[in-house]
Amino acid sequence: MKRREFIVLTGVGAASTTLLSGCGNPENALIPALIPDDTYTPGIDYWKASTCALCSAGCGILVRTRERAANKIEGNPLHPVNKGALCARGQAGLQVLYNPDRVKGPMKRSGERGSGQFESISWDEAAKILVDRLADIRAKNGQASVAFSLGNTSNVNRIAAEHFMSSFGSERFISAPVSSDHDDLLFNGTGQRAVFDIANATYLLSFGARFLETWQSPVMYSLAYGEFRRGKNRRRGKFVMIEPRMSTTAANADEWLPAAIGTEGLLALAIAQVIIREKLTPNPVSPNVANGTLDEFAPEKTEADINLPAEKIVRIAREFAASERPLAIAGGAAALGDGESIRAVHFLNKLVGNLNMPGGVFEVEQFDPLAKLGTGKPIKWAPLSEKDGYEGGGSALLIHGMNPVFHSPQMTDRINAFQFIVSFSPFIDETTQLADLILPDHSYLESWDIQAATAHHTVWHADLRALQPTPTPYAAIASPAISPEFDTKQTADVLIDVSRQLGQPLPFESSEECVRKAVSEVRRAFGQAAEISDEDWKSLLESGVMTGDSKPSGSTSGLESAKAGDQPLAISTGEPKPSNDAYPFFVLAYEHAALGYGDHANLPWLQELPDPLTSVLWGSWVEINPKTAASLHIEDGDLVEVKTADGSLRLPAVLFPAIRPDVIAMPYGQGHTAYGQYAKGRGVNPATIAGPYWDAKKRFGVRASVAKAAGEAKLVRFGTSLPEKIDTPR
Ligand code: SF4
Repeated sequence: MKRREFIVLTGVGAASTTLLSGCGNPENALIPALIPDDTYTPGIDYWKASTCALCSAGCGILVRTRERAANKIEGNPLHPVNKGALCARGQAGLQVLYNPDRVKGPMKRSGERGSGQFESISWDEAAKILVDRLADIRAKNGQASVAFSLGNTSNVNRIAAEHFMSSFGSERFISAPVSSDHDDLLFNGTGQRAVFDIANATYLLSFGARFLETWQSPVMYSLAYGEFRRGKNRRRGKFVMIEPRMSTTAANADEWLPAAIGTEGLLALAIAQVIIREKLTPNPVSPNVANGTLDEFAPEKTEADINLPAEKIVRIAREFAASERPLAIAGGAAALGDGESIRAVHFLNKLVGNLNMPGGVFEVEQFDPLAKLGTGKPIKWAPLSEKDGYEGGGSALLIHGMNPVFHSPQMTDRINAFQFIVSFSPFIDETTQLADLILPDHSYLESWDIQAATAHHTVWHADLRALQPTPTPYAAIASPAISPEFDTKQTADVLIDVSRQLGQPLPFESSEECVRKAVSEVRRAFGQAAEISDEDWKSLLESGVMTGDSKPSGSTSGLESAKAGDQPLAISTGEPKPSNDAYPFFVLAYEHAALGYGDHANLPWLQELPDPLTSVLWGSWVEINPKTAASLHIEDGDLVEVKTADGSLRLPAVLFPAIRPDVIAMPYGQGHTAYGQYAKGRGVNPATIAGPYWDAKKRFGVRASVAKAAGEAKLVRFGTSLPEKIDTPR
């Protein structure tokens, strides 16, 4: 008999149980408090290392637990990406864990598909349904009729899914159909990444990259920006932001240039033309550029299109080229279209020769020891296409970490056409509502995971007497911060179990074993013994991070070979759709700083966070320049109708002076028709009229009309009294 069981059977235990019997299972709370076990003492904080999953930056976190409940998340100071810092999204991770709308156990559909009616089942029954249906579909229609759609998920789940599909015999992996991926454009899909040394730059030209809010790795770049602005013994760097609407990042800039939307690439080439014609670059320029072929982009010829005076463009070009360590970055509106603007912006970096230099662009080789845990077969990721989900064809879709029905409502029919849909979502989102079977994953704070990458920093090397780019390979280990709150299972463990039942066991027995094997691979890559002692394993779980040797890299190959800029003639800047009387305005739909593209709309802390520039919370809005609004007789807070060729939305107008008069802007994030009590029925979904966030080509130059609409707007702002006309503010 265990010590705890003995206590329960004594008078103390029995009396307490009687007294507290109205509180469920009181002994679960009482007994550990009376007799602490080795890992738990009442009143003492325990910190568990994990990885933030609220964006793809993967910051290291420490989760404070007390009495076996998580109550605070902080940044992990040992993690090389965020160095102890954390953003508001990261803090809100606790509300993923304790969200009242989490799916509390496996469920199967009990009503019509899409009705949202499900009944709880056991994990045994759930696994049996999955095994039987998949075996049946495979027997009737072949392996390829089963597709796995993976979006934002852990490496452990991804590796398990790869093995599961491989042993099942299907190669149909479906990803979010992202177009114009930043790094793929720069490195032609080689898997390399670009890291920008903002901390050591002296002049930063951002073409739409909102690096203080949402772009790439916001915490890492916010820390770097702090160095850039007020680094010890450094001159304050100058920051110029180019975008049609002033974002929070632009509000921090020395200068905001509202170039015409869709002309960011043109502006980059105009700046390049000045640098070349005035011979401002220290680098040799290849003959096909030097002979005047960029002359058609001269500021004097393009100023009307760009809608900025030529003198201003010339001044920016001179300042940029004259600065000691200039750096240009591209994102946001500049990343729309076919990606040519990103290449044009990056051409500026090549011209000033900052590739793999301090304050410049680092080309980061993939550090991927986890690849050895995969199947060894290349995964062919395909975007969800017209061919997916064929009616009556007997097909199955397993979906994890993606909500295509919300992000791209136009895909609903295609998803619905799958005969059998399995969702691993911890929440009943719009896509999960169509599922036949729900196998809820743990929250990331209850899961195992490992990430491996290379962090890049520029450090002063005394031996070299110089600042040197210094890559540091690292791996971050996430172990469960607390026991599962509900009857959920990490998806990798479900796939391991189902594969076993299908007679195709995976090469690891559990998520934890997968992480242990991955740690062995990382240790090998770091030149250490693959085996890890129990003591080292324990301390690794406590620190959450293991790092390899940091070596100054200096300049390397790859981008360096293009330093002189051999490819500018391949750059075209794209053409925004022409002006149209029916749709006179451009629509800029942008990522909400807190809610992202809507995946965090179910977290009340983030709903409660006012947008820094408009102070709007808990809803949608459209930003309109006051001059434009006056011409349309629209006042601040009015309900307006925004129409594009794809449809229309009605939402409140916010008169916003820092936006071009020919542009209206609205954040993604709201407009859910499911996804729990905090997200559902709030605001509108811009994807219905401006395209899904992942489709950069479709979103380029979308045009709209805007007009005052009948009815009352629901607009909630921070620090203001609610207008009387708002009947239901929340
Ligand atoms: S930037 Fe914020 S949301 Fe993204 S991983 Fe870091 S803490 Fe999490």
